[in-house]
Amino acid sequence: MVTGRFGGTRLARAGAGVTAVALLAACATEQAKEPGSASSPAASQRPQPSAQELGPPGATPRAGEVGRIPPSGSLPPVISSIPTRRKVVFLTIDDGWEQDPGFVRHVREQRIPITAFVMRDAVEAIGAPDSAGGQGRFVGSGKWGYVRRLRDAGVPIENHTLTHPNLRTLGYEAQKAELCGTSRLIAEQVGVRPTLFRPPFGNYNADTRRAAKACGLHALLLWTATVQPGGKIAYQVPDKRLRPGDILLLHFRPNLARDFRILVDKIKRRGYELGNLDAYLKAALRRAK
Ligand SMILES: [Zn+2]
Repeated sequence: MVTGRFGGTRLARAGAGVTAVALLAACATEQAKEPGSASSPAASQRPQPSAQELGPPGATPRAGEVGRIPPSGSLPPVISSIPTRRKVVFLTIDDGWEQDPGFVRHVREQRIPITAFVMRDAVEAIGAPDSAGGQGRFVGSGKWGYVRRLRDAGVPIENHTLTHPNLRTLGYEAQKAELCGTSRLIAEQVGVRPTLFRPPFGNYNADTRRAAKACGLHALLLWTATVQPGGKIAYQVPDKRLRPGDILLLHFRPNLARDFRILVDKIKRRGYELGNLDAYLKAALRRAK
């Protein structure tokens, strides 16, 4: 059963939070004076508290809080929001064109929960940025090293294809090559095998779900709102409000660190917490008793 195993390697460690904050503060102070450390190849080898040591960032579900996402046959479910009444939303970020070191620093120091869906051609800066990734020049200089630094900051690295195709235009084998190829590459480069898939443009069909299953991906993750430059939220609902369980989609864009601070402040001012997507998905995809 696929859903029963979901997230089993990323178990929450309640109670580690206080120690974690102290460790992180010490770590940040020690490293603050090291010029160029963000782009140094050795950066990821320096002793930093790992995500496992710190426990998961963000709110984790309380007992009985999360509704169950029912299994959809034997194929991975397609999920756009998390069934909960708690004022909690989830941050996700796609592609990987712009590699702003300030963003990684902010995520690490503030323990911001965010899930990255990376695409090979963006991370490796092959070709031109797609329109969804924003306009302007890209800063692909960090390549996979940047993604490894995100991983070290506690960000789950998930699958967003090799070339960002419209999957509906591809047959099963071509889709499978995109999905499995990306999971393999991420496992090689980042050391963690993805469990989630985000289809480019939100376009998928039954073959996508079959391919996801064949590549060991447990769910297709869509979104309920996108975040535009300047931290502006573009809703997909008419009343233009955040709702409990919303999944927000950002992109690696210019000025990301600044826009991201504006966004997080806005979410908190509206009384919402940032949730840990893995922990909530694990709760939502639990087996029926
Ligand atoms: Zn994308």
